[in-house]
Amino acid sequence: AAVVAGSTGALSEVIGDLQRAAGAMERLMDLLKAESEVSVPANPVALPSPAKGLVSFENVGFRYPARPDVPSLSGMTASVKPGERVAIVGPSGAGKSTIFQLLLRFYDPQDGRVTIDGVDLRDADPVAFRSLIGLVPQEPVIFSDNALENIRYGRPDASDEEVRAAAEAANAKGFIEALPDGFATHLGEKGVRLSGGQRQRIAIARAILRDPAILLLDEATSALDAESERAVQKALEAIMPGRTTLVIAHRLATVLKADRILVLEEGRLVAEGRHAELLETSPLYRHLADLQFADSAAAGLAISAE
Ligand code: ADP
Ligand code: MG
Repeated sequence: AAVVAGSTGALSEVIGDLQRAAGAMERLMDLLKAESEVSVPANPVALPSPAKGLVSFENVGFRYPARPDVPSLSGMTASVKPGERVAIVGPSGAGKSTIFQLLLRFYDPQDGRVTIDGVDLRDADPVAFRSLIGLVPQEPVIFSDNALENIRYGRPDASDEEVRAAAEAANAKGFIEALPDGFATHLGEKGVRLSGGQRQRIAIARAILRDPAILLLDEATSALDAESERAVQKALEAIMPGRTTLVIAHRLATVLKADRILVLEEGRLVAEGRHAELLETSPLYRHLADLQFADSAAAGLAISAE
């Protein structure tokens, strides 16, 4: 099978996410393997232009190649309409991140299909559909490079002007300009270390540069300081309108604002609705809400959920 040439931005974000998830080398290998397992169609089906941002999982069943004994998703059927904001909640290991992995087509499902704007991802040009997706991972990777280039990873052909505008929209311009050399400040291992909230705003700026029809957010589970939290929320609120948004939610504010919440358990969609409704109808949701959202309700802050 041909190796998929991934878009640098989405790919590097996912690499970062996976690294964090469990050991850099192992996960990188998984990713490279996945990249070589999905094949590029010889005659890709064109996506509608302009993109609508309709996301659909149709009876999707999926097992990771490295773990064929356990399904990570089973009978998953869910659609997200253009511009809709959907929150995904569920216990650790329920399959939330797997949904993102399939949407980026790092793997193909064994059953059913995943479509964007009605096109099966297996039939589409991966570079084309990935360019429609912006990913803000839980713990974004900061590369050993300056702030300007770190943001430009979102879209390598972006001009300096565009990078700065994206930083501003992501509520990141202020803290970057306060660094010793502003946008030229070297970040990463041998440079300035950023806080969790600052790293997230870099990732949001990268996503903004891509101007995606579809936004995938994996909220941090760890608490940010109150100021960072507000800055991140403000940045997200600014970029979500008009885009189809799927957010793996760990915060009360996020589920309250979602048009719809999907509740996952052991790879299955077990409930679906608004917050108030799910508190009534889903014992699992009520349990998760108690666990994850109780303190944040009072403090307006995220709490560590996992
Ligand atoms: P969540 O994001 O809800 O915590 P995941 O989607 O990461 O859950 O994982 C769903 C299931 O798939 C879990 O059982 C997890 O152990 C398994 N899994 C996740 N990633 C991999 C992988 N790269 N290889 C094998 N199994 C995986
Ligand atoms: Mg996850």
